[in-house]
Order: sequence, then C-alpha cells, then structure tokens
Amino acid sequence: MRALTLIILLMVAGTAGAADCPDNPAALGTARVLDVSAATTPRVGRKEFPQTLPLAPKEVVLTFDDGPWPGTTAAVLDALKRECVRATFFLLGRNAASSPSLVRREVAEGHTIGFHSFSHPLLGRMAPDRAEAEIDKGIVAVEAAADKPLPRKTRFFRFPGFVDSPLLLDRMEQRGIVVFGTDVWASDWNRMSPAQELNLILSRVRKSQGGIVLFHDTKAQTAAIVPQFLRSLRNEGFKIVHVRPAE
Ligand SMILES: [Zn+2]
Repeated sequence: MRALTLIILLMVAGTAGAADCPDNPAALGTARVLDVSAATTPRVGRKEFPQTLPLAPKEVVLTFDDGPWPGTTAAVLDALKRECVRATFFLLGRNAASSPSLVRREVAEGHTIGFHSFSHPLLGRMAPDRAEAEIDKGIVAVEAAADKPLPRKTRFFRFPGFVDSPLLLDRMEQRGIVVFGTDVWASDWNRMSPAQELNLILSRVRKSQGGIVLFHDTKAQTAAIVPQFLRSLRNEGFKIVHVRPAE
C-alpha cells in the first residue's frame, strides 16, 4: 500500500505541469517556483558574473528582453500560455508606456516583470546619477503600465547590453535589486532564419544543461520559434523554473 502511494505521488510530481494545464495534457508546464533575493543572489548569470541561480541540471529559466512589442510579444505569450509556462520579461519603460495592455497581459498571466531601463542606453558608460535616474524612469513607466502593484522589496533588473559598472552594481544590491545576466543567449539580435535560431539555441541549452536563457520578444524570428523550442525542451526532459522577486 505504501509503495502504491509512493508511485502515485511520483506520478503526480512528474506531471505537475500538465496537471496545471487542463487544456493541454501534454504541456511542458512550470515545474517549480524559485523566489530570488538580492540578499542571497544579488547578481546571477555566468556570462557576466561568477555565479548564477541555484538550478539543477536540465532546469531552464526563460527570460525575454526589450518588450513589450506589438505582434511579437503577443505571439510569445500565446506560446507560453499553451504550454502553461511562466517566464520573466525585462521591459523597457518606453515600450511599456506605448503598449500598456501587453504589460497588463504579462502580469495577468502570472509572468514575472523585470526592468531594463527606460530607453536602453549603455548605463555603465553614463554618469552614475544619470544612469540611476534612467533606471528609475524605466521602473516608474513599467509600474504605471501594470494594472496591479508589482513587488517592491525585491526587483529584477537587466542592464542593456550588459553594460554595468561596479558602482551601479553596488547601488542595485543596496536597493534590493537582483541584477540578471544570463547563462545562455539565443543571439537573436543577429538576423537569421527561425530554423537557424532554433538549432542554435537548442544546441546551446543542451551544452549548458539548462540555466537562464535570454531571448528578445521584440524579434519576429524568436516569436516564430518559441512554440517549437518549448516542445523540444519538453521532449528532451528539461524543466521550467519560474523565478519571482522574494517578498
Ligand atoms: Zn536589451
């Protein structure tokens, strides 16, 4: 009897994502939620920093930068919804102000909202006070576009072009802002066919055995491949981790 209970528990655990996704029993799903705090992990992502999130092999955190963008962001959200997958969007303030309904949709569908400045300047090359004002302008614009209060004790931020400075990194940490680099990127700032991008990002995710993955939801080639990318992750046994700002 105990063995049977264990087997049932294991089966439930193994299909947790699908169980949460009644419209799509074969969905990839979101395997677990990870609360992230600047006190323990002020900076994450091995492309830029010595450490990353505490992920197990084959766990993937999906991140999308520069949006929201008409057309492409909605397509990405549709694909995530179909697979019951939750991601993190690092938003530009100016784009949030132009497309507030997309910000509200991201919030309503349970995704994490991160910040990416107002207008994407290379912050580490600016005077620190001007850079911080630009970061704050982005936060204010995104929060104004969202239809409910966003977490304030901890926030997630990604520097445009990963151009930071030791002083700005210090200030972010003092403010409880977790700075995200990434572990893997899709190189989707380069023009390539969707098939090329899919092969490239899958080969990188296999090699790294998961980690934080960076896309741009402003790119049509990315919007085109996200459905198949998620299918491939599922078929190859990867698990999705949803990161949230710690309260
Ligand atoms: Zn960017």
